[in-house]
Amino acid sequence: MTAPPRRILCIGECMAELAPLDAPGDYRLGFAGDSFNTAWYLRQLRPGLEVDYLSAIGGDAISDRMARFMADAGIGTAHVARVPGRSVGMYMISLSAGERSFSYWRDTSAARLLAEDPAALDRAMSGADLVYFSGITLAILSEAARDRLLHALRAARGQGATIAFDPNLRPRLWRGSAEMCAAIMQGATVSDVVLPSFEDEAAYFGDADPRATADRYAAAGARSVVVKNGPDPVHVLHDGRHQEVVVAPVPRVVDTTSAGDSFNAGVLVDWGSPLPMAKRIERAAAVTAQVIGGKGALVPLDKTPLSNDWTMP
Ligand code: ADP
Repeated sequence: MTAPPRRILCIGECMAELAPLDAPGDYRLGFAGDSFNTAWYLRQLRPGLEVDYLSAIGGDAISDRMARFMADAGIGTAHVARVPGRSVGMYMISLSAGERSFSYWRDTSAARLLAEDPAALDRAMSGADLVYFSGITLAILSEAARDRLLHALRAARGQGATIAFDPNLRPRLWRGSAEMCAAIMQGATVSDVVLPSFEDEAAYFGDADPRATADRYAAAGARSVVVKNGPDPVHVLHDGRHQEVVVAPVPRVVDTTSAGDSFNAGVLVDWGSPLPMAKRIERAAAVTAQVIGGKGALVPLDKTPLSNDWTMP
């Protein structure tokens, strides 16, 4: 891709979120999910960008509410299929002495069926300049559906789309870490840009340092690898060149939910523009600094300090 994307397709699962309020037993209903969060931030960053979500939801009231939430955020829902008899997945956040823990109900969610129809996958990807998916997208699918998705991604790449992938390692969603690691590396073989987080990669792939993570994904076929590493420098491998980009310290980290998802949006929002890679990473980190300085997965951005960097409509 030699120009910034005009249409980005994100693929995965959005879930209902129950977040605790001050009074015990009171919760607020929201909607979030890794690839969905990235879609949401992409739209925030560049309202002129066409962002579509590919997923599946049910036919019930909460599915209707989720679809409305997506549409209200400016995210296209034409490729969000309806599966009668199923509903959306859900997670609940519990707080204990300031520590958050998560309970999930997603084993039978409609999104698990997002890749049943190969023609629908091709339709959604056709005309997308960039297609984004994650290891969680792969984890929720059956093996046959995963193959269908990878096949469609490979075809879209062949037609000129840039494919971007966050491995987002979640061993609990897999039958074991061997299955997870094999599927993640398959995901990387169809991808141009891979955006892993070093801590997870070191834990499950045994990478000695971020450079090793970048080299492993490049060997699988990725042209660019952006290795996130919390507050530590981001390691980038791009056009065969390794580079470390320092991340500005964030004075008050409130909640790191969505750190990687929002960072990915900052990196991908104008992927293909002539912006130097170091600048792109610094800018993505500035987006994420706002996100982790606030509460929840979807933090409205103050674009004033970012506006010089986003000159496109
Ligand atoms: P993930 O959420 O995928 O695990 P990371 O935790 O590696 O991703 O963080 C992604 C990005 O978020 C980092 O590259 C950095 O820009 C920012 N970030 C995360 N944690 C911190 C922190 N404690 N201080 C400053 N920046 C952070």
